[in-house]
Amino acid sequence: MLPLSTRQLTDLVQGVLVQGNLNEHITGVAIDHRQVQPGDLFVAFVGEKHDGHDFVADAFARGAAAALVTKDIQVHPAQGAVLRVADPLIAIGRLAAFERTRFGGPVIGVTGSNGKTTSKDLLAAVFRTKGPCLATAANYNNELGLPLTLLGRQENHQSIILEMGMRGLGQIQRLCDIAQPTAGIITNIGQSHIEILGSQENIAKAKGELLEALPRDGVAVLSLDDPWLVRIAQRTRARVLWTSLTENPEYAEGHRPDAFAEDIRHHADGVTFVAHVFGERQEVSLPTYGRHNVGNALGALLMGAAHALPLDAMAEALAHAQMTGGRLQVKPGLRGSVVIDDTYNASPLSTKASLSALKDVARERTTVAILGEMYELGTYAEASHREVGAAAAELGIDRLVTIGPMARWIAAAAKDAGCTDVIHFEGKQEALAHIDALVPDGAAVLVKASRGMKLEDVVRALTQGQ
Ligand code: ATP
Ligand code: MG
Repeated sequence: MLPLSTRQLTDLVQGVLVQGNLNEHITGVAIDHRQVQPGDLFVAFVGEKHDGHDFVADAFARGAAAALVTKDIQVHPAQGAVLRVADPLIAIGRLAAFERTRFGGPVIGVTGSNGKTTSKDLLAAVFRTKGPCLATAANYNNELGLPLTLLGRQENHQSIILEMGMRGLGQIQRLCDIAQPTAGIITNIGQSHIEILGSQENIAKAKGELLEALPRDGVAVLSLDDPWLVRIAQRTRARVLWTSLTENPEYAEGHRPDAFAEDIRHHADGVTFVAHVFGERQEVSLPTYGRHNVGNALGALLMGAAHALPLDAMAEALAHAQMTGGRLQVKPGLRGSVVIDDTYNASPLSTKASLSALKDVARERTTVAILGEMYELGTYAEASHREVGAAAAELGIDRLVTIGPMARWIAAAAKDAGCTDVIHFEGKQEALAHIDALVPDGAAVLVKASRGMKLEDVVRALTQGQ
């Protein structure tokens, strides 16, 4: 964050100065007292386990210049300014919105049902070819994480990439009110959080809030391979640019892709393809797997090209992109096997994408998919699990291992569709007890489930000592 006086802060957050003076200089924001740096504003949140107000004195001892509180607290008067606000989340949002107005470069919002974090990582790699880029860390994509990301801005940042997550209508709009994106990517419209949103139509509507937030001179990058995106594209005033995995996509409806891929090939250490972007041709290799990641990379390349970044420099950056962990990471496993750790999360769309990546990575190896439950699907739960089972059978996965009561639907549908090697466990411990027997020598094993199942335990068992 660029420096701000407590006087400006008080006005911005409409706070009441409880103690201290209005001339302190604030140079950063922390919500965890242990991470307070000298000059920071410490924001006291009341959490489930801890109350930030208990740590205000400690934050000052670490050099905080000011604290935002919601309750009466006693600290030594000489320590710094204490401001009282009604809602610390709103206060942080206002502060971040102000910080945003002090930035003149591109601000790129990234949303979609699957692939936001991956796309954000790829975009950050691409935009770093032009200079320092501020990007969402890990998965801080909500009404707290996004403002905190913006507040981490430094003077030398040339671009900002913000992941935008949502669990309901209006949430992306709120994030956009703060971030004022100049450009946006929607990766796809799947069924994540359908339990809350009710229908895929509502999910499309919610994601479309990013399109509506873009200015007339802005850029939207969308995929022609997703019929929902084709349908909502007219909701933006911005220029729409299209990606597709193929030159002549099925759902094009008169559009032509501005970026498409050719000659997609899987190798032991990643996937390569030839990108065609605005008529220019470029060989690209990615340090990850799967056709869906080729799609994510095309989005990053097209967004970069729309910002005048040279294609060859972007390709060079993608080859060494730093990817956030837990998403399609290939690791050496027991007895010559390879384990694809995709345990970060799962939805029907992402699981189908990962099953297809498993086939690509495996090449000649026997394929084993270890799939757990997918949560938050509400009334779609049974149909969605069955859909994944049918997809596993259709792709010709050699062995399917399912874990958890709802995953029984995956197993049943796979059997119905002709998969003969299907093993089901009601619980993870039971599966762990048999883990060694589940994996043939030299197999390629995909491990995937919703976050709550923590299937990284299975990955650990499969990769131990390798
Ligand atoms: P979250 O909503 O949890 O933040 P996310 O949208 O950030 O998720 P990632 O973390 O990038 O998504 O990827 C999650 C999983 O989604 C990956 O492990 C992969 O299986 C799958 N995935 C990534 N990109 C795509 C895509 N374009 N299409 C379908 N599935 C994808
Ligand atoms: Mg994410």
